[in-house]
Amino acid sequence: MRSVLLSEMTWKEAEQRIKDAKAVILPLGSTEQHGYHMTLNIDSLVAEYISEEIAKRTNSLVLPPLNYGQVWSAKDFPATISISEKNYISFIKDIVKSLENNLAKNIILFSGHWGNVAPIKIAVRELKDELGFSNVYYLSYMNLKEYSEGLMESELWNGSGFHSGEIETSIALYVCPKNVNMEQAVCEYPIVPPNIDVRPIPWRDFAVSGVFGDATKATVEKGEQFIEKWINDMVHMINNL
Ligand SMILES: [Zn+2]
Repeated sequence: MRSVLLSEMTWKEAEQRIKDAKAVILPLGSTEQHGYHMTLNIDSLVAEYISEEIAKRTNSLVLPPLNYGQVWSAKDFPATISISEKNYISFIKDIVKSLENNLAKNIILFSGHWGNVAPIKIAVRELKDELGFSNVYYLSYMNLKEYSEGLMESELWNGSGFHSGEIETSIALYVCPKNVNMEQAVCEYPIVPPNIDVRPIPWRDFAVSGVFGDATKATVEKGEQFIEKWINDMVHMINNL
């Protein structure tokens, strides 16, 4: 099978392949703490893996990933790098503008890190308002409860938190097992600070390990099943664009 990675093509090959492709996908990751048991690049590795899988199944192409993201919540953990929303939005817009000049039919911004979603959405809205781009889509984690049902054994933290818990660790065990050390996995449900949804509270003020949920329950089989449902839904959506 031909490579779906744009970085491995010459500009002449890329010129034709972009015109023929259903979409060009930009994997968006982060450099962020993932508990005691996973490395800082988990979101980037997951974003790359999923982007490539989607590309293979939709006749699409993949750009080199962006391995930094908006990580305000985890910013106080060592080696977590947080890019401001303003800078992130500008960077994303510049990448999309370059692609539009190359006649990409659709552009998919796929984030393996939930914190990127808010600035990505702003960037895409601005591109539409300022330049009329209506072929740019944003995808990330979705349908967590639906995909987890009957599969995951632990509860989400505070109803929706899953950072480095059972779901994300299972996904990492499937995508990048070398980056996971299950001997260091913990179960932590930090006490939810009052008014957490209406004021800014960095995670390190109330969390210890950086895990939200029960990472010890993760398995590679759960990761495979979760990720397949997720990828199938996105492939279906993209093939119908
Ligand atoms: Zn993550």
